[in-house]
Amino acid sequence: MDAHALTEALPLGGAGAAEPPPTYLETLLAAGLLFETDVRGLYGRSAVFESIADGLNAAITRIGADQQAEVLRFPPAMSQTDFETSEYLKSFPQLAGTIHSFCGDERGHRRLLARIEDKQDWTDQQAPTGVVLTPAACYPIYPVIARRGPLPEAGKVVDVLSYCYRHEPSLEPTRMQMFRQREYVCLGSPERIVAFRQLWMDRGQQLGRDLQLPLEVDVANDPFFGRGGKIVADSQRELKLKFELLIPVNDGASPTACMSFNYHMDHFGALWHIGLADGGVAHTGCVGFGIERLVLALLKHHGLDPANWPQAVRETLGGV
Ligand code: AMP
Ligand code: ZN
Repeated sequence: MDAHALTEALPLGGAGAAEPPPTYLETLLAAGLLFETDVRGLYGRSAVFESIADGLNAAITRIGADQQAEVLRFPPAMSQTDFETSEYLKSFPQLAGTIHSFCGDERGHRRLLARIEDKQDWTDQQAPTGVVLTPAACYPIYPVIARRGPLPEAGKVVDVLSYCYRHEPSLEPTRMQMFRQREYVCLGSPERIVAFRQLWMDRGQQLGRDLQLPLEVDVANDPFFGRGGKIVADSQRELKLKFELLIPVNDGASPTACMSFNYHMDHFGALWHIGLADGGVAHTGCVGFGIERLVLALLKHHGLDPANWPQAVRETLGGV
């Protein structure tokens, strides 16, 4: 079994001498910080949860103020064509989500309702819309930047925030199907990207320390699909293209990646034809902050009520 395997069982157990202690997920649900749906990894968030998320976003804006980043916001969906260009399906077909809709006539509508009435599958009555869910917050920006022509001489930094979708149902609250990524994305020369990533590895660790969270940074690899994927993952590790900032959050599990520091080399630059001012292919990199995971780490280490958190932590978050 891998680390993502479902190891805990809902529904919530009642109190009793032989009952195991509540899991972190159960604790969060009981405290009203997250709201359960009947889907693993899909939760509602309370006002307290959102105020911590807002505080984190404000802190990330503050520490990135010198980046002169262009703010780009997209809804959590992108065009199927851009998604195909990204080659996401080559690497992570198991994580992708697509949007389908009913496109039929009245007869088709009656058939759809009859299926539901008979408790049969009705989803084959839906057709693709040409819209897919955003898998990582930076994906929608590459085609936008590419359409503008060559990058400025000094390259460019973009600030993005989006809900993302990944089909990885789990009972670990840190592994959601829809969650927010805040990112700074850098496009430019290889030297610019390498320096950008180092800067943000330092800043990410400083933010973690300011939030008084136990952390470590390690080289990482993504869950590339299939047998071929193992080779890609090994090479990602060997070339040190991805680092993660890890914080212990789930009881008895290895620490959770709460930020990632990525160097894509010329992968996206080549796919979307993003050019440097001198005519070369742009390199790209990004720092990604997992907003939900950072909120969950703060709640885990400082307690479920932010009013009782250390003053310095609350100040870093702008006074939650
Ligand atoms: P990645 O694009 O995989 O490097 O993800 C960037 C950040 O998003 C990670 O460091 C996590 O903090 C967060 N993240 C990734 N997957 C999930 C998930 N399933 N649930 C919650 N947060 C996630
Ligand atoms: Zn990214």
